[in-house]
Amino acid sequence: MTKFRKGVLFGDELNAVYADAKANEYALPAVNVVSTSTVNSVLEAAALVQSPVIVQLSFGGGHFYAGKSLPNDNMQAAAAGCLSAAKHVHDIAELYGVSVILHTDHCSLKNIAWIDHLLDAQEVWHATHGKPLFSSHMLDLSEETLEENIDICVRYFKRMDALDIGIEIELGITGGEEDGVDNSDVDDSKLYTQPSEVYYAYERLAKIGSNFTIAAAFGNVHGVYKPGNVSLSPIILKNSQEFVADQIGAPGTKPVSFVFHGGSGSTQGDIREAIGYGVIKMNIDTDMQWAFNQGVRDYYSEFKDYVATQIGNPEGEEQPNKKYYDPRKVLRCGEQKFVERLEQSFADLNCLRRNLS
Ligand SMILES: [Zn+2]
Repeated sequence: MTKFRKGVLFGDELNAVYADAKANEYALPAVNVVSTSTVNSVLEAAALVQSPVIVQLSFGGGHFYAGKSLPNDNMQAAAAGCLSAAKHVHDIAELYGVSVILHTDHCSLKNIAWIDHLLDAQEVWHATHGKPLFSSHMLDLSEETLEENIDICVRYFKRMDALDIGIEIELGITGGEEDGVDNSDVDDSKLYTQPSEVYYAYERLAKIGSNFTIAAAFGNVHGVYKPGNVSLSPIILKNSQEFVADQIGAPGTKPVSFVFHGGSGSTQGDIREAIGYGVIKMNIDTDMQWAFNQGVRDYYSEFKDYVATQIGNPEGEEQPNKKYYDPRKVLRCGEQKFVERLEQSFADLNCLRRNLS
């Protein structure tokens, strides 16, 4: 028996996972996927460590999943790719014996049609299946004013909550560059959220439902940089929890479920400190891309004399090389490194064997 239901979780099941994570001081890795190969690798790793996991798609990842040749002028390909990936996860998660939170990553105001398409499709899906396809969606309106950000999030959260879908919002700005979004030159003050801003968002979202998480910037950045270039202040999360707890009359509790963006390249100390302050989800993309790259790179360098020509290798000039250049061979090497790296992330996040009942 697993502690959480196998398959894709939704509604109150998400809150149960987040409450367990907060109580036991662990966080779930949220891994960006772009293909069946990376989806399957995430599930493989989660099965090995016997913990729930978050599978997420970005706007660009969704487009890639559907196929780069497809036009995306109305964000239809990004939406179709995400829906296709979601159905794939629904079809196989139980076979892996894994509990999955299925999520979409950053959506700014200019891409909001992407989320509109996803919600339109899920309203139809929910009517027949009694559940959504995605567990949660992120709206990142941190470029807008705080009021505008939360106004729009509240509007979308009402629609999502009716479908048992949770929302993740962003306060402040995650620095760095990811998936074509470049925040490497934003004003420093935007990289650090104020406790009063967290309370403002918390208070307004809590009126709609309980299924929300907050990515509050505390100096974190997307990407991996030379040590010393990133200055994290997880204490912001602690101060925010205390402020919100006092405001709602529940001192000593951790009412907010925080999300840590830009987790790649972070030290174990910063990660554990942030988890202690109520971080229940950490996004990791860059380190996973690096791992997949290592597997592919090492395969080609080891077998370079077997993939240069279709026929002929060091064992003989008439030897066929089909079994070396079969794409499954090289993709599997990428997958294996990806799985290994993700197992390490589960350990870093204190998230081993968290699905054992
Ligand atoms: Zn992010």
